[in-house]
Amino acid sequence: MKKMNQETLCVQAGWNPKKGEPRVLPIYQSTTFKYETSEQMARLFDLEDNGYFYTRLQNPTNDAVAAKIAALEGGVGAMLTSSGQAANFYAVFNICQAGDHFVSSSCIYGGTYNLFGVTMKKLGIEVTFVNPDASDEEIIAAFRPNTKCLFGETISNPTLEVLDIEKFARIAHSQGVPLIVDNTFPTPINCRPFEWGADIVTHSTTKYMDGHATSVGGAVVDSGNFDWTKYPDKFPGLCQPDESYHGLTYTEAFGKMAYMTKATAQLMRDLGSIQSPQNAFLLNLGLETLHLRMPQHCKNAQAVAEYLSTNDKVAWVNYSGLPGDKYHALAQKYMPNGSCGVVTFGLKGGRDVAIKFMDSLKLAAIVTHVADARTCVLHPASHTHRQLTDEQLLAAGVRPDLIRFSVGIENANDIIADIEQALQC
Ligand SMILES: *Cc1c(COP(=O)(O)O)cnc(C)c1O
Repeated sequence: MKKMNQETLCVQAGWNPKKGEPRVLPIYQSTTFKYETSEQMARLFDLEDNGYFYTRLQNPTNDAVAAKIAALEGGVGAMLTSSGQAANFYAVFNICQAGDHFVSSSCIYGGTYNLFGVTMKKLGIEVTFVNPDASDEEIIAAFRPNTKCLFGETISNPTLEVLDIEKFARIAHSQGVPLIVDNTFPTPINCRPFEWGADIVTHSTTKYMDGHATSVGGAVVDSGNFDWTKYPDKFPGLCQPDESYHGLTYTEAFGKMAYMTKATAQLMRDLGSIQSPQNAFLLNLGLETLHLRMPQHCKNAQAVAEYLSTNDKVAWVNYSGLPGDKYHALAQKYMPNGSCGVVTFGLKGGRDVAIKFMDSLKLAAIVTHVADARTCVLHPASHTHRQLTDEQLLAAGVRPDLIRFSVGIENANDIIADIEQALQC
């Protein structure tokens, strides 16, 4: 079948009911699946047959939604995880083990920064954070013989740096490692990192993909493009026999699906951070309107950013849709139809004024969330990034006065009127 357009994929991809089956993706609310013979079940455990046996590894509802996300990103396969944190952990841990190292942009979500810098270190995996705007040479200098991947965020949360994906892909490939990109903020509606050389994409589906703030979730998508077999010593987990599957070698048995199969058959089996089928169902409802919501988020955010940039109580505004923004050109290249609905800004007077402003908002709610249908606001230095020291805050590019304003899909005039009244308080 001809490759469908994104709008059609949002609505239809992943679930193709046959005669008499439900039109709407059902929730397979079952931990387990029935077989006729013991032999049939045994083959599943040897990865010799495809099939469902236990929802900790795979579930049909989840797989249909993962297939939709894979189609939207243009990948060969995907898995859903219980959260975006689990997705980023799996994406890296699938190819890194104790004694390994990886390189990451320093401009990433605070939770990912902690995961990489603190928790994965305890597992014996070291990370070096680099400034994503540094030169090729400076970034390459962070690589070591045991470096296994490069990681970045398309648009960083909350600092809104736009990643030069082609540059990062070029650097990763020159060092013989894959590029992993967290594409949560633009979503595949606004940017498809595989088209620019990324090898693996991750998502916090909690954000725009669900879009209604109902379900925490994540996804890992593989382009199938990285040739692991070129570096068999670097990626033994994929290119050498897996003891836990009777000596099966993923790259030999599964080709382009090697990475996703290992992530499912080994990591999901052993770590078990599966998304619940109920959440996958809600995520799918969100995905059905993703192509309608993203342009409205972008249109509203553009109006809010323009309003803020002309207001004399505002010290600075970051939004790549503003022509003067540092990342305007990169955003035009990678996201010509718009970036995301998140705008960040600082108020004259700094931290205290920021807190008073937020407390005065009526329509925009203070919540630890971002990227959903309802406009919301957060002060990272007091909330999400509280655990970071001032030095780490600055390294992550988070100014203490930064207000993260997540513009929803209401009417832009109402959102701006709310900001205006709060600025008067
Ligand atoms: C929120 C977020 C995460 C973490 O996702 P959860 O679903 O909250 O675990 C990871 N990356 C980015 C860019 C995010 O915005």
